[in-house]
Amino acid sequence: MKEQCLEIVRQKCSGCKGCELAAKRHNVVFGEGNANTAKIVLIGEAPGEIEDETGRPFVGRSGQLLDEFLANAGISREEDLYITSTVKCRPPENRVPTDVEKEACRKFLNAQIDIIKPRAIVLCGATALKSFMELDKKTTISKIRGQWMTINVDGVDYPAMTIFHPSYLLRNHSLAENAPRTLMARDLREIKNTYLNDVQRFNDVVMENVENREIAFV
Ligand code: SF4
Repeated sequence: MKEQCLEIVRQKCSGCKGCELAAKRHNVVFGEGNANTAKIVLIGEAPGEIEDETGRPFVGRSGQLLDEFLANAGISREEDLYITSTVKCRPPENRVPTDVEKEACRKFLNAQIDIIKPRAIVLCGATALKSFMELDKKTTISKIRGQWMTINVDGVDYPAMTIFHPSYLLRNHSLAENAPRTLMARDLREIKNTYLNDVQRFNDVVMENVENREIAFV
């Protein structure tokens, strides 16, 4: 059912000309993941060159590094996550999408979240974070990453955590105690332990059984 709903939104998105990014895109990068099993929606900034060519999110160098971090944390990209971004078309020269572009694309992002109804949302990088929260000049991503907060999407509250964007980690190779790569690994473990643990999985099975029984009684 979730897949079918997402497909309807995907089809609308694939023909979208809601902002200037439509003019130069090769492919709309809507998002990917198993909508039926994904417990977390991970939101990146915008498609890059490889994503634009392939129509898939996070498949360039940044995406490959993200895959490594996910695997090391025991998070399955295919089963646990649904991955998308703040805008679905590539900004020229990989510039940061404007507020107008993000606003134009927001209806698709909100629909994806509403259909998947994740346990938690992961905001990957500053652009994703700023799509949900205004930051003052003193609040940097280094300060706010790794903290659980609540974000509201169309009237529904979701737990959310900001993590570094993997493109930042491509430029930072240190594995020292508080280096970005070490913190990224720590944040992903925290996400895994909090929202992808066995107790959460058991609760989901119980809730599914209750829902199925209620449907059977109707
Ligand atoms: S970025 Fe979003 S709003 Fe802009 S054209 Fe692409 S799909 Fe439409």
